Amino acid sequence: MIVKSLGLKNFRNHSDTGILFSDRFNIIYGDNGQGKTNILEAIYLCASGRSHRTSKDSELIKFGCDSYSINNLVKSTGLDKDINISYLADQKKQIKINEIPLTKIGALMGNLYAVLFSPEDLFIVKQGPTERRRFADITLSQIKPSYFYNLQLMSKILKQRNMLLKSLTDNSSLIDTIDIWNIKLAEVAASIIVARRAFAGLLSRLAQNQHKYLSGEREIISFDYDCSFQISEDTKREEVKENYLKILEKTLSRDISIGYTSVGPHRDDYDIKINGKSLKTYGSQGQQRSAVLSLKISEIELINMETGDYPVLLLDDVMSELDENRQKYLMQSIDKVQTFITCTSDMKFRNTLVSDSNYYKVVEGQIVDGL
Ligand code: ATP
Ligand code: MG
Repeated sequence: MIVKSLGLKNFRNHSDTGILFSDRFNIIYGDNGQGKTNILEAIYLCASGRSHRTSKDSELIKFGCDSYSINNLVKSTGLDKDINISYLADQKKQIKINEIPLTKIGALMGNLYAVLFSPEDLFIVKQGPTERRRFADITLSQIKPSYFYNLQLMSKILKQRNMLLKSLTDNSSLIDTIDIWNIKLAEVAASIIVARRAFAGLLSRLAQNQHKYLSGEREIISFDYDCSFQISEDTKREEVKENYLKILEKTLSRDISIGYTSVGPHRDDYDIKINGKSLKTYGSQGQQRSAVLSLKISEIELINMETGDYPVLLLDDVMSELDENRQKYLMQSIDKVQTFITCTSDMKFRNTLVSDSNYYKVVEGQIVDGL
């Protein structure tokens, strides 16, 4: 996929920015706090329906204004798509594709695939399960709109079930209605679990290849799905659902006493290991960085395998964090991918990337220098 152009109106510190991009490398440079990441954020928003930095659309509106809009022209398999996202304060976000309004945000998925790589991705290794689930959920949602709908549905069902659990302490006669919620929850949870297991299996295989090379054959990486209850590699969806239903019944009295659902996909995790040992606990800083790089490159490949399209790659400030070898490796791995790079200095790229590169200098939310 190719992002051909981007138009921003009152988005973050960009009042009125219009950019035509190169199909290959786009180097967005400038001092700190000028609005470089804001450009990547807008592209990412068009792919995933949400910002990677905030869940509040109001924060994206330029200070003192009451709306923002993003226009993104995307080319995929020969077709041009005009993605338009606009938000008026206190109203619902409006998304249009080729002028046609979408009724559900999930319909945006699949129109643009984007992989974002920033220094915060180290959180995938270093922090808790929420970060790892987020990483997997965002990729899965982009490639499978049904997965995105299921996640939304599960979160609604969990809210309802948890409300019911809380009210059961005062009103035990409501206990009969819990079965309805258990069945609804198990149904959607089984689909999510099966998708996560397949995702982890494929990502793990791809990352193993990447990482072998990156670590000079010394390290084997694995990315294993750690379901919140036991399932095996070949447990079928129906069986997963039945197992989960049994667990929900078994844990009911505990769930009532704590007032929330203690087991389920909302408590899942992924285990990242190097040579069989937890990367979070035992990995060095350098090993953790390399592992994230392997996972990110694999994410690009996985999207290509699953959809037939390459995502665009958004590299936010990562080049300066990688040593020469890893930088070279990353560049070699993305030869088919349109890439957006933010950095504070363009000199290094001007010396090494010769062809198909566009340069944009950003100063206070404006592009002051192209090519
Ligand atoms: P760095 O090199 O430090 O990462 P950057 O160029 O990537 O910097 P951005 O994160 O793109 O910077 O933009 C930050 C700037 O945007 C800050 O000056 C901030 O005050 C401004 N900003 C953020 N949100 C808004 C908003 N809603 N309205 C106006 N300006 C905003
Ligand atoms: Mg930035």
